[in-house]
Amino acid sequence: MTALFPTYARWNIEPDTAKGSWLTSKEGKNYLDYTSGIGVLNLGHGNETVKASVERQLERFWHTSNLFENSEQEQAALLLAKASGLSRTFFANSGAEANEAAIKLARKATGKSKIVTCTQSFHGRTFATMAATGQEKIRVGYGTMLDGFTHVPYNNAAELENAVDDQTAAIMLEVVQGEGGIHLLDASYAEAIMKLKEKHDILLIIDEIQTGIGRTGKPFAFQHFAIQPDIITLAKGLGNGLPIGAMLGREDLAEFFGPGSHGSTFGGNPISISAAIAVLSEVMNPLFLQETAEKGIYFMQQLKWHLENSEFIVEIRGLGLMIGIELKDEAAPIVQKLQDSGLLLLTAGPNVIRILPPLTTDKNEIDLAVEKISNVLKTESIPTA
Ligand SMILES: *Cc1c(COP(=O)(O)O)cnc(C)c1O
Repeated sequence: MTALFPTYARWNIEPDTAKGSWLTSKEGKNYLDYTSGIGVLNLGHGNETVKASVERQLERFWHTSNLFENSEQEQAALLLAKASGLSRTFFANSGAEANEAAIKLARKATGKSKIVTCTQSFHGRTFATMAATGQEKIRVGYGTMLDGFTHVPYNNAAELENAVDDQTAAIMLEVVQGEGGIHLLDASYAEAIMKLKEKHDILLIIDEIQTGIGRTGKPFAFQHFAIQPDIITLAKGLGNGLPIGAMLGREDLAEFFGPGSHGSTFGGNPISISAAIAVLSEVMNPLFLQETAEKGIYFMQQLKWHLENSEFIVEIRGLGLMIGIELKDEAAPIVQKLQDSGLLLLTAGPNVIRILPPLTTDKNEIDLAVEKISNVLKTESIPTA
């Protein structure tokens, strides 16, 4: 019996408590949680800095509305500007909402409506972001889509060039496709994007909802590439579990989002903002980012060392602590076996195991995860008669 819409195929685990990288189920089983709440808990479960910041704000007030001055929103936006180089922020409540804001701003600022996105992308589930998402399966049954969106194959510069023209408002993409299977942007594609952007006066929107907030060992993943976005969108890791989204844009875009042009009752809620300020002060510390990058390199090395010769693996790839293991067969049964062994991971597309540890994890936990993964993939390799 359930009183909920069955929109989620839920796991057979109900969390009781969680701290750092660990989660304990109501049945008393301990799990190494390398899902981070789907890339949200970059500072792990129950982070004390976030908790203290939220508790301080709870004592003051927890909602006022965006009619009031708000120095905490200003502070969070300044921290984001410092880390990204984009001087203006609009706060929303989720990733899809951040992307909605980006799509609206791009259309308004350019006076054009065409937006090019990539196949296998994921940008959200509202009407605009569902149309932006390059996966047919999430659109099935919902009727007419918002028009103006064209999807091109990821990392194919020629196809992108064919798809853009002077009516194109924006190119929108992830620099590491998350849901689509941990696919990284090619350097040559980055170059092609920058050229086309220049030629046709197109805005570049980078969806950093999964890749941002230190996930890849830099503040934002675009900073690994020779690419300069006009707009980026954030959510997931920004509140370490409190709901918040953000759209960041260039200074000269500010005039197109004047009073009354866009808004949100809960956007930039004080509790979520207090969490975001704590997150940004921890994550944007260069030492923290460097350690994240090092952990990512270590994790990849260990995985490759233990698994590269496995006949069940197509490729191990990733950036920082965003790692994918592409299998020849379906990933879901393997993720289920790993769950039984006490390691929580995700899938990305049908064949990819997606690993998103908290950035606060350590080498011992990484070693444990590698051991569990290689055990399961080794067991898998015993041919069943
Ligand atoms: C999760 C995700 C979204 C959607 O975020 P929601 O908060 O679920 O609306 C959009 N883009 C990317 C890249 C994501 O990973």
